[in-house]
Amino acid sequence: MSAQPAPKYDFEVGVYRPPSEGGSASLLLRITRNCPWNRCEFCAMYKTEKFELRPPAEVKGDIDQIADICNNLKDISWKLGYGGDITREAAIELLNSVPELNYNQGFVMVYNWLQSGAKTAFLQDANSLIMKTDQLVDILQHLRKTFPTLNRVTSYARSKTIAQKKLDELKAIREAGLDRVHIGLETGDDELLKEIKKGVNSEGHIKGGKKAMAAGFQVSEYWMPGLGGKARWQDHARNTARVLNEIDPHYIRSRPFFPAAGTPLHEKYESGRFIMLSPEEHLLELKLMMAELNVTSKVCFDHAGNYWQNRNGGLLFSQGYEGYKFPEEKPRVLQLIEEGLTVRQEPVFLRL
Ligand code: SF4
Repeated sequence: MSAQPAPKYDFEVGVYRPPSEGGSASLLLRITRNCPWNRCEFCAMYKTEKFELRPPAEVKGDIDQIADICNNLKDISWKLGYGGDITREAAIELLNSVPELNYNQGFVMVYNWLQSGAKTAFLQDANSLIMKTDQLVDILQHLRKTFPTLNRVTSYARSKTIAQKKLDELKAIREAGLDRVHIGLETGDDELLKEIKKGVNSEGHIKGGKKAMAAGFQVSEYWMPGLGGKARWQDHARNTARVLNEIDPHYIRSRPFFPAAGTPLHEKYESGRFIMLSPEEHLLELKLMMAELNVTSKVCFDHAGNYWQNRNGGLLFSQGYEGYKFPEEKPRVLQLIEEGLTVRQEPVFLRL
């Protein structure tokens, strides 16, 4: 029996990306697999998966495959009389001529990305900066050269990894075309950072965040309302604000904590060793944290887990990716929290 021919398109796509990269239909380019740390007690994302660095030649091969799909779609579009526009008809024609693309998990992502103008890209998975600097620079340069329409490239990064890189290396990565880093701060409270096994303390978070700012990245810090539960909510709120005040990042994004099945924190919750805040207590924590924030950041509630309702039954906070500009809109956010406190809030459990 003759061997099956190798698929022409076998570029990889990971599972996770921040909400803002979904909304802008980013190109998802997987440069590493899974998470090199993988110990955070609230996180279920890569728990059963092993971390791997992908060889730069393989990643550049993925970029070339995606470019090939783009060129084919444009050629077909011209032939069908759509003037090079990426249309549904062109996509169907390509799927008919290359049936293997029907089974390629990345084809729809590439199609959506092209349809939305091919403007943004996100490097997966959990901590791209762990890659050797010259390799990451090489990949970024190839990506930027291949897709000149890109005006924003972003990635997840751990504070500790950023802190460990030399400033010149971070600047080289920035220069090569990485615009924004999304950092999982979660909390600025040292006790809680230890409990959740984040692998970094508040000083490390500040060092990493400041270094990313100094290298010229747009810095997006995620924190987790509710992560301290009933036992530590005040320390969590105050110390998170303290750390964020030191960094003063471009974005502060709220990703509320919910116990995800299969995680150690879920077990603690199930056994009563971790007590969740009620929705009202959640809002009181938010109020304390926001009151203590002295930043010039955009404060965002763009994750679906920000469930609180306003008095009309709609969402309390805008889930826009640009959020509320502080300090100008801080009174507005505090006013919204007060409104939320007058409403009977129903707890909503989402798997993160
Ligand atoms: S939260 Fe981020 S760093 Fe922690 S285990 Fe999950 S993916 Fe890794």
